[in-house]
Amino acid sequence: MQRLIPSWITAPNRTQTTLGLALARSTFTVLAAALLLLALCSSQQTQTMARCALNDSNNTQENVVADVVVLDADIYTMNRVQPRAQAIAISGDRILAVGSNEEISKLRGPKTVTYSAGGKLLTPGLIEGHGHFLGLGQSLQMLDLAGADSWNEIVQQVKQAADQKLPGQWIVGRGWHQEKWSTKPSPNVEGYPIHDALSAVSPQNPVLLTHASGHMSFANDYAMKLANVTGQTNNPPGGEILMLPSNDGSGNVRPTGVFRETAASLVQAAYNRSLIQQTDQQKRQQWQDAIDKATANCLKNGITSFQDAGSTIATIDRFHQLASDKKLDLRMWVMVRDSNLMMDQNLKRVRTIDHGGNFLTVRAIKRAIDGALGAHGAWLLQPYADLPSSSGLNTATIESIEETAQLALRDDFQLCVHAIGDRANQEVLNLYARIWQQHLDDAANGSVTSSDTSDLDELGKSLRWRIEHAQHLDLADIPRFAQMGVIPAMQAIHCPSDAVYVMHRLGDRRAGEGAYMWRSLIDSGSIIANGTDAPVERIDPIASLHASVSRKLKDGRVFFGDQAMTRDEALRSYTLWAAYAAFEEKSKGSLEPGKLADIVIFSQDFMTCPEDKIQQTKVLTTIVGGNIKFQNENGGLTKLED
Ligand SMILES: [Zn+2]
Repeated sequence: MQRLIPSWITAPNRTQTTLGLALARSTFTVLAAALLLLALCSSQQTQTMARCALNDSNNTQENVVADVVVLDADIYTMNRVQPRAQAIAISGDRILAVGSNEEISKLRGPKTVTYSAGGKLLTPGLIEGHGHFLGLGQSLQMLDLAGADSWNEIVQQVKQAADQKLPGQWIVGRGWHQEKWSTKPSPNVEGYPIHDALSAVSPQNPVLLTHASGHMSFANDYAMKLANVTGQTNNPPGGEILMLPSNDGSGNVRPTGVFRETAASLVQAAYNRSLIQQTDQQKRQQWQDAIDKATANCLKNGITSFQDAGSTIATIDRFHQLASDKKLDLRMWVMVRDSNLMMDQNLKRVRTIDHGGNFLTVRAIKRAIDGALGAHGAWLLQPYADLPSSSGLNTATIESIEETAQLALRDDFQLCVHAIGDRANQEVLNLYARIWQQHLDDAANGSVTSSDTSDLDELGKSLRWRIEHAQHLDLADIPRFAQMGVIPAMQAIHCPSDAVYVMHRLGDRRAGEGAYMWRSLIDSGSIIANGTDAPVERIDPIASLHASVSRKLKDGRVFFGDQAMTRDEALRSYTLWAAYAAFEEKSKGSLEPGKLADIVIFSQDFMTCPEDKIQQTKVLTTIVGGNIKFQNENGGLTKLED
């Protein structure tokens, strides 16, 4: 059965249809080659070689030469006209052709580099639809302690870090959880370790390790000295410095290293003082290091485009410089997140599309209307099941978001509002409709330049405003997304990750009727942009794809499985749909001639393998703009000699 997919996303581009069909036919004609070159030349990224070939009046198929050819692949193109293929040809940073080994081999010339994908799955480059790029990089600058099985493992991690640091440099980590260790630390106080072993491996470096909950920290001796914490230090209001009897026989106490709640700010303040003392050059290096780490992490995971859910004007200026200097290795699509005043003054200036060879686009704004469900911050229509005194929080006034919406319309930006609770989502849909109607009224009476349409839904579809998360929806609001053209950007991995407390917060019935309504949204004609909200979740798209199709928790339980996506929809939500959600479906999201050569090769076919094997899939190769940016040491592309 054909699913109800909106025509405004699936209708293929006419030129590309012709080309796709032409290439799919067994006879590869000169006419097709010429058409192909026309398509290429219409793009800004036309390659010299292609242009030369076109200028040659005796144009024959030998003139069409690929820079790179990948043969022997199991290709899912995401192009409905030519859904499957075997090989792909690249010219410059664009796709030249997609077809069979035989067809694509004809595009090889003496200088063409030819690879075999060894029969592996090849898809369009994946698009992270909602993450926090700088935050991801900064999280990677810390030690990741979440996987540690014991306190001793953490001590070893810190020892390794200390070996690589200069004396006095801080070592920060996050994610430790004593309940997840297989053995209790010895010695311990209330189940928590004592700092002695940690201090012994890091005598010259202050150490600050934040608990997985974020509500506790652990410090070593050096850090506590910098924070002026001793056995005599009093607990601050709302916090506790966990003490133990000192071992000098004096009857005094000494700190264990554990700082609960507000007490953690004593050590945090010492760390912050060290940051203030950094020179501008050190700060700049630290920032660039975060960008480099985020980039490497994305490429390793097959992410070729990253939709950043909110950076300040100042950060965007830095991204712009990197793009100008050709120093971005993956494509950034950045939402502006700043005060209305800053946006009023800077939106026109920072707006850019496909800057630096299609590596930076800034044409969207991020706002938030509520908080998160875990902290009872999501704004609900009915009180929380586990906190009947509260219906959550409206974290920004409707008026200030309306003001932002006016700026978005004025300067042609998409508006992307974070909304988790059903009330929050309803308010945002209402707000969008209200602002658009006002715009149409203003256009009708001539007070703003006229709009292309006088129809509210048509206007909405042309604007492609988004709701970030769209996590919990009132039944009546679900069809409004497709009708208004509002795009839900939903991170599938949140579903299995948060399912347990979603049930507590909402209760069974409301969770089943309104949480993560992927199937209902798609069936009502909407698309979904997928992602991970990294660093909230790991950037791993395989985990999110698995969540999309299974809604399966780690313990095997399934969270309302009837709302799952099909595998085709899941991959689409990570490619073509995410591209559409950024006005980029003409250059990204599917493998078609003329589009950017952003490609991923995987270790196995997650489109057909048993569901419980999906998570074993590894990214083997990531290609951005025709360049190999990541290659797994255990496989990927093999270069073929003639
Ligand atoms: Zn986010």
